[in-house]
Amino acid sequence: MSLIVQKFGGTSVADCEKILAAARKAIRAHQDGHQVVMVVSAMGKQTDQLIQLANQITDRPAAREMDMLLSTGEQVSVSLMAMAIHSLGYNAVSLTGAQIGIRTDAIHTKARIKSISTDRLRQLLDQGNIVIAAGFQGIDEHLDITTLGRGGSDTTAVALAAVLDADACEIYTDVDGVYTTDPRVLPEARQVDRISYDEMLELASLGASVMHNRSIEFAKKFGVPIHVRSSFSDAPGSMIVAESESDDRPVCGAAVTKNEARISVLGVPDRPGVSLQIFSRVAERNVTVDMIVQNVSEAGNADISFTVPRDELRITLEAVQEAIDSLGTGRITHDDNVSKVSVVGLGMANQTGVAEKMFAALAAEKINIQMISTSEIKISVLVERDAALPALRAVHAAFELAKKPATSSAVETGSRESADAADVASRLQGVDMEDLMLDDVTLDETQGRVTISGLPDIPGIAAHVFREVAASGIVVDMIVQSHDSHADHASLSFTVPRDQVASAAAVARRLADEFFCGGTSSEPEIAKLSVSGVGLRSNTGVAIRMFRALADAGVNVDMVNTSEVRVNVVADGKEGAAALASLKAAFADALR
Ligand code: ADP
Ligand code: ASP
Ligand code: MG
Repeated sequence: MSLIVQKFGGTSVADCEKILAAARKAIRAHQDGHQVVMVVSAMGKQTDQLIQLANQITDRPAAREMDMLLSTGEQVSVSLMAMAIHSLGYNAVSLTGAQIGIRTDAIHTKARIKSISTDRLRQLLDQGNIVIAAGFQGIDEHLDITTLGRGGSDTTAVALAAVLDADACEIYTDVDGVYTTDPRVLPEARQVDRISYDEMLELASLGASVMHNRSIEFAKKFGVPIHVRSSFSDAPGSMIVAESESDDRPVCGAAVTKNEARISVLGVPDRPGVSLQIFSRVAERNVTVDMIVQNVSEAGNADISFTVPRDELRITLEAVQEAIDSLGTGRITHDDNVSKVSVVGLGMANQTGVAEKMFAALAAEKINIQMISTSEIKISVLVERDAALPALRAVHAAFELAKKPATSSAVETGSRESADAADVASRLQGVDMEDLMLDDVTLDETQGRVTISGLPDIPGIAAHVFREVAASGIVVDMIVQSHDSHADHASLSFTVPRDQVASAAAVARRLADEFFCGGTSSEPEIAKLSVSGVGLRSNTGVAIRMFRALADAGVNVDMVNTSEVRVNVVADGKEGAAALASLKAAFADALR
């Protein structure tokens, strides 16, 4: 008998009528002969209201008690859902995370799933019940209640679909599917028929809140196709599967994280181990860091900037202060009035000029780019918060995202790729479900680096630089731009093939003269090391492991970029082999 997981988000169960409507959807599937597991979120804005209540008592509620409180939201909705199904004449049983046996680690408010036992679920399903699982929650080894992080019911749903080997995982929500960007922010956004796991993963962690990013990690790891659709209509929805919508489009979507904060650590020694001092302390507090940008300043000192979600600024600043105290040098600046705008697409990996196009679109709107970080399938820029919406609109238009791609194929509500699933299940024997899973650790010795420092911090500079670089036929891979709000200048580094370093350096020198700025430097041979897999950013410990391994091997990191599926670091060309060996050793257990 086939099994379907149906997840209903907060708006889809916001009142009793909606609960009844959701109950009818589940009953319809049951009548069609499927076993049905429903995963339900807290009603409407209940979770927000509970958080507000806690904040009225204290501005620093204990995380354990927060989980105790927040988990009640889902307990209300699952019980009401069971009653709704009973009232319609069918059998249903509601279960909390603990009752299902969703075991997590003990990181309260951001717990990760270790294992799920399926016996009780299967038994209830076999007895003819619709099983209603509370989303977003689990239980740790002390039987304490944990929650998975905001939006975590999606992760519960996909994890259940994975362990139950479900035939379909339907995510019912308040929009018709996945759009090229949030349709409530940009009405011109287009609903996509299909999006790949990697693209959705990236978009979700860059602000597309339609799916919890970790749910996509599960989907990718276990080969679960996800069908995102409306609770309120029978529109066909969007599929999240292995393949992307179009082969010829560089960008499939754009996202904004409005509430981002930038932290800069200025004047720290430029030597191995310094990044470790900083990022290990941040990671210990389970804060996910993004847009790490480092640039070498005078006298062998480095400035390191990175971004974190704004509501984690305070604990991050505490962590960084600790690092500075222990280094005995450096100072911190921060800005919490910034937003991160990103474009994502598998297609950009093999097309040139994508970054240039994004920068040109922003320049045309006179939007100043404070920081840039690119990776194989995403480009993120940091802008002041007021510029976030115009920036999103500009890039959405520049990449013609509102237009359907010529080569798009129809939506297939394809079923699980069971061969892959079996393969993954065997690879995951004895490890936690959300553990890091690496595909590869690689060394690329084909590139060099060029840096222009002291660039004026005004709109249009990045666009100008990369237009000139492209005009000379130079192919750019990684780009990072840092920002120093006090000195009013920016420093831009990029990597190019080794045989183009000389011509890129010449272009850089010409531009430096044109802008009367600080200067240029180039490194003809760099080592680019990449770690790729699933769970790289959501497992905050990965950064610690990487920086520790490199520091232990005496390798100094010049550039870093992180994405959901890949972390790249650039080191001196001579250090490539040592760095590769140290990373392979550090991640041996995760290379499955
Ligand atoms: P639920 O309660 O059903 O989980 P969420 O509010 O978590 O719903 O997610 C749905 C919302 O995600 C939509 O209302 C929409 O505003 C927002 N959203 C952000 N980015 C996207 C996107 N790319 N496609 C669709 N919706 C998006
Ligand atoms: N109720 C939780 C939240 O609001 C979980 C979810 O909706 O997915 O974050
Ligand atoms: Mg949600």
